Amino acid sequence: MKSIAVLTSGGDAPGMNAAVRAVVRTGVAHGLNVWGVYQGYSGLIEGNFKRIGTRDVGSIIQRGGTILGSARCAEFQTEEGRELAIRRLRGAGIEGLIVIGGNGSQTGSHALSQMGYPVVGVASTIDNDLFGSDVTIGVDTALNVALNAIDNLKVTASSHRRALLVEVMGRQCGYLALMCGVAGGAEAIVLPEVETSPEQVAEKIQNAYERGKPHAIVVVAEGAKFNAEGLCKAFQKKRLLIGYEFRSTVLGYVLRGAAPTCADRLLGTRLGCAAVEQIAAGNKNVLVGMSHGEVITTPLDEVIRGRKPLDPWYLSVADLLAH
Ligand code: ATP
Repeated sequence: MKSIAVLTSGGDAPGMNAAVRAVVRTGVAHGLNVWGVYQGYSGLIEGNFKRIGTRDVGSIIQRGGTILGSARCAEFQTEEGRELAIRRLRGAGIEGLIVIGGNGSQTGSHALSQMGYPVVGVASTIDNDLFGSDVTIGVDTALNVALNAIDNLKVTASSHRRALLVEVMGRQCGYLALMCGVAGGAEAIVLPEVETSPEQVAEKIQNAYERGKPHAIVVVAEGAKFNAEGLCKAFQKKRLLIGYEFRSTVLGYVLRGAAPTCADRLLGTRLGCAAVEQIAAGNKNVLVGMSHGEVITTPLDEVIRGRKPLDPWYLSVADLLAH
């Protein structure tokens, strides 16, 4: 193999740049030509890629986002779109592709591999919902941003004796909400995976009030049946007793854009290097991820079929520790 390409796809995640840098520099060290694809799968279809060298990835390890850009590309979900992408790659003499991204992106990389094009995926999403890696690039930074916000909100909530509902990203997966809820000492955590009624949340808040707590923090995943707005409306409409005055804050995209933490820079670096080693050794159609502190590979068809459940230990202690 002489030439490979790398792209970032789906939601941007802090640490993607560390992975791109590692791919480029490890690739060059292996004697490969490395191409950077701009704007994810859209760039692949449009032929928007160019050769990049070690100096092109200088001073990016500390930057959030992705220097390659990202996209959500509907055309790539069609066979014609993927055929065009493969023609573009082969036309430039590129023999393998590294895809840095989450669930949707790896579903795309699997579809490409099914059409005979060699791919290696790198586990990267702030949601940490990708089967095949205990931890994904970006989640540590997102957790720390959320935690910082929760700590700040707790201070103001305590000053006014308020309940504060904090909504974090997570459409199908409550990992971010659960982990920053436990680490932030939340009184209640509301997840897509565990159906929770407004009455149950109100009861937890009211209990905190009766126990004399100066605040109640409720961390809510955006994809929960009742998100922050839904809970606030239900509290008002049903006149649920919660004791405190309440407010809500939606953190949204602020979770994505921070500079990567040390953990995400190291993870991006480790997985980026490993992806090149895999592709250079002729291994293909696998995801590179981490398990128990070691780099592992998982076939892409298992990755897209697998589900990563929430950690049952954290789920079991969340309520107990809120007392
Ligand atoms: P995150 O979860 O962090 O937002 P992601 O990788 O899951 O990241 P998605 O928007 O779900 O982000 O997917 C990124 C892109 O992957 C899509 O825009 C599309 O181009 C491609 N993709 C998703 N699903 C498929 C599919 N079934 N077949 C081919 N390509 C797909």
